Amino acid sequence: MEELAIEGGTPLRTMPYPSWPVWDEREQRQLLEVLHSGQWGILDGGKVAQFERAFAAYQGARRALCVTSGTAALEVALRALGVGPGDEVITSPYTFVATPSAAFLVGARPVFADIDPATYLIDPSQVEAAITDRTRAIVPVHIGGCPCDMDAIMEIARRHGLYVLEDACQAWGASWRGQPVGAIGDLGCFSFQASKNINAGEGGAIVSNDPELAERCWSLHNVGRVREGAWYQHEFLGWNYRMTEWQGAVLLAQLDRLPEHVALRADNAAYLAARLGEVEGITPAAVDPRVTGHAWHLFIATYDPAAFGGRTCAEFLKMLNAEGIPCSAGYVPLNRSPAIRRSLAEQAGEIGPWELGEVDLPELPACPVAEDLCQRTIWFQQRLFLGDHEDMDDIAAAIAKIQRAVL
Ligand SMILES: *Cc1c(COP(=O)(O)O)cnc(C)c1O
Repeated sequence: MEELAIEGGTPLRTMPYPSWPVWDEREQRQLLEVLHSGQWGILDGGKVAQFERAFAAYQGARRALCVTSGTAALEVALRALGVGPGDEVITSPYTFVATPSAAFLVGARPVFADIDPATYLIDPSQVEAAITDRTRAIVPVHIGGCPCDMDAIMEIARRHGLYVLEDACQAWGASWRGQPVGAIGDLGCFSFQASKNINAGEGGAIVSNDPELAERCWSLHNVGRVREGAWYQHEFLGWNYRMTEWQGAVLLAQLDRLPEHVALRADNAAYLAARLGEVEGITPAAVDPRVTGHAWHLFIATYDPAAFGGRTCAEFLKMLNAEGIPCSAGYVPLNRSPAIRRSLAEQAGEIGPWELGEVDLPELPACPVAEDLCQRTIWFQQRLFLGDHEDMDDIAAAIAKIQRAVL
């Protein structure tokens, strides 16, 4: 019997997986152009504007606006939709904290609708059940880069007169029934943070087909200026969330490479899913047949302890890491997050800002599916899918090795 690496045996794999970020002379040339131009901000530069046009075209949207982060994009988008105090925003408990944070940051309240256990994506029937007369917007999150059921969500939104803001922060190049995500709803947000599949260190974008909403976002991200107005003419209250030309330059080069990366990740992910189909107890997240493009920011799989001699998912992840396979546990359910519960209490006036220590934070309604899955989920990150099928074979082989050893 082979000894597990965690117990001192030889790791199944010692070769590293592809590293991230990926860059070449394209990024270098773009960055030097900005440096030498002396135009480092968007007010007189052209890189961000050029990227916005290219990214809008890539996502099949009329307009794209770059901002400083995905979080800023969500905040600006909600403000542009007029979401504010007293309003409720329905979103998923299985997402990055920025999704519900953005609702709080505009004074609104996030309400969690549980996820579908097969896909990890917001369950449209749970969205419908969470609607009240205060609901203003639905924020579906295309987690891992897999589009949500946009047919059902758009239909619910239309029937109830709600806005749809797509959190597409992990879904560059993803599409639902042939339509790129982001501009299926009223507005869509993307992130270019360092871990993301297209990376400028930090950065975000808002896409839209609605010119009026796009103008509102432009004003909000540019301290409330108006397009033809004077420099010190501020018609609205806004932020300075302008992206720098450095980021625009890097993003132009990154976007150039994105289509080939999207295809490569999709090929490797499909191959890994097939290989894991041969392993008992590891079930990849289901992909709806109406998904025509998946960004594969994350490859998400559900772990069944019974198939691994009762080892917990945390124990299994340690064993798999020791075998040379990078993997992690992923999100905690946000309906249990102290930050969210604290913000709710603050919003209700039950506690003051920075009131820490002995405070009783309110409990939110349970999201049983997300809470259960967060205990037994495995993430493989996007960079692993930039190699070849042998890289995928090693993942399956390491899992099989562990299974033989613990059973
Ligand atoms: C990364 C991410 C964000 C936030 O983006 P930042 O650029 O890190 O602010 C929001 N939502 C999801 C689902 C994300 O993955």
